[in-house]
Amino acid sequence: MKRERTLSMIKPDAVQKNIIGRVIVKLEEAGLKVVAAKMVRLSKKEGQQFYAIHKERPFYNDLVDFISSGPLMALILEGEDAIAKNREVMGATNPKEAAAGTIRAEFGDSIDKNVVHGSDAPETAAIEIPFFFNEDEIFE
Ligand code: ADP
Ligand code: MG
Repeated sequence: MKRERTLSMIKPDAVQKNIIGRVIVKLEEAGLKVVAAKMVRLSKKEGQQFYAIHKERPFYNDLVDFISSGPLMALILEGEDAIAKNREVMGATNPKEAAAGTIRAEFGDSIDKNVVHGSDAPETAAIEIPFFFNEDEIFE
């Protein structure tokens, strides 16, 4: 087990549905600690940059439009194996396939409105965390 940090986003669909608090409860109950948080609205250009890894995928333009469609809450979560633990509590990308009790199973509407993002590896966390946060915005 290793203490890690991961980047989480509570996406615009969840902010719109007024479930920020309920999502954070799930994260906290999984043993993850919020060490940084901010509400931001990404520009289209920032959305393209954040999801650049998916730019060849057919859903890329829709994904960028969605992530920049309204405010989201970016979080840094810290804990033992935080990257895998966050992915576990998020559930599968498609809420219909997500395990019972996971965030996406409980709150997700569809594969493109699935409430949360989580870094998928240490390498992506290392890129995604500074995308949103400066060192002085992170608290132990
Ligand atoms: P995850 O968010 O679980 O890491 P991916 O990295 O594969 O999933 O995809 C990023 C986001 O793109 C997903 O959360 C989802 O909102 C969207 N997405 C993925 N696959 C599809 C798809 N087939 N159709 C529409 N949107 C998709
Ligand atoms: Mg992903």
